[in-house]
Amino acid sequence: MNLIELDKNHILNTYAKSYINFSHGISSTLYSDGEDYIDFASGIGVNSVGHANDELTNALCEQAKKIIHISNLQVIEPQVMLAKKIVELSGFDMGIFFANSGAEANEGAIKLARKYGSLGDKKRYKVITLEHSFHGRTITTVKATGQESFHNDNFSPYPDGFGYVKQIKDIYKAIDDETVAVMLELVQGEGGVESFDREEVRDLAKYLKKHDILLIIDEVQSGVYRTGEFLASNLYGITPDIISLAKGLGGGVPIGAVMTFLKDLFIPGDHGSTFGGNYLSSRAGITVLNILSNLKDSGDIDERVKYFGDKVDNIADAHKNLFSESVGIGFMRGLRVKDDEVLAKIMKLSIDNHLLILKAGRNTVRFLPSITIRKDEIDEGFKRFDKALSAI
Ligand SMILES: *Cc1c(COP(=O)(O)O)cnc(C)c1O
Repeated sequence: MNLIELDKNHILNTYAKSYINFSHGISSTLYSDGEDYIDFASGIGVNSVGHANDELTNALCEQAKKIIHISNLQVIEPQVMLAKKIVELSGFDMGIFFANSGAEANEGAIKLARKYGSLGDKKRYKVITLEHSFHGRTITTVKATGQESFHNDNFSPYPDGFGYVKQIKDIYKAIDDETVAVMLELVQGEGGVESFDREEVRDLAKYLKKHDILLIIDEVQSGVYRTGEFLASNLYGITPDIISLAKGLGGGVPIGAVMTFLKDLFIPGDHGSTFGGNYLSSRAGITVLNILSNLKDSGDIDERVKYFGDKVDNIADAHKNLFSESVGIGFMRGLRVKDDEVLAKIMKLSIDNHLLILKAGRNTVRFLPSITIRKDEIDEGFKRFDKALSAI
């Protein structure tokens, strides 16, 4: 059997995939059978420092030769140092629990909120989320996801306590005396690269604080410099009660994190994760944050964010027949396509032209390049994209 047949035989059929078999990559260029592809997807916002980054590779090799994993029953030095770095970069004096994925981080966030809601005179457990949101694939986080298509009956029953509203302004009237938290992405990723208005989010944060309702910000996609700032919460100037992180944090090594000001809420036995924050993933996280925070300090990230953003806007202008809008922030950008069929064509032609991009809800082409993508790779990627679009 060839590789495609083996894949079909042994791997469960959960993804509509293209069968390109990459052998290696460097920076934002991937190779398959001697042909190069420009990577504007970074493994769905995961490879934040690109492929085969020397500093990350060396740190991982060095760490693997010492200890990869013990358990959270002992102190894990790199985990502590990673938490300290996250606190420094975010400016939030929070406590952190490490997990292995975005969904697992959000599960932790929801458990924190529910415990908080159990402490008052009257139990509060409801969490309000937004339509077009995406919070993960576990039974609970899929239910937290505000897209009805995700809650089909094949997987029911789902946990109670999740309600959805269309827009931020609808949150206020959805709150009742059982509501304990509001959970949202500041820039909805899977839902269509939709960013919310900063004033509106700040007003909501103030209102929730005043009414003792927790604000959970899902930064699984928007965190770790994706928007140009360390956290989208920093960019928006808000101070959430709970923040979840994952995708870009380990540069490809699985890691998730839930951060909170409620440092004393969980006690031993409340929550856990066997792998969470082990030596290898924590070392990956520290290395990624060192690389990216240095680039941020030098002004390099801001410069390339602008460079990339201008290219997105220019291509939207040049192909007004295909795109209705250019959306998103920083290295989390999208183009709204006028219809479904055109989006499918754009996806196919991009691959044919050796460019990896993503799609998202609301007929959106989505770009999530590595935070370290070089200018020449940006140029080459948009050249290929333009060529793909011109073939429609
Ligand atoms: C990807 C994503 C998740 C789920 O993360 P996994 O690591 O796939 O579990 C949750 N929330 C947001 C905003 C995401 O983009």
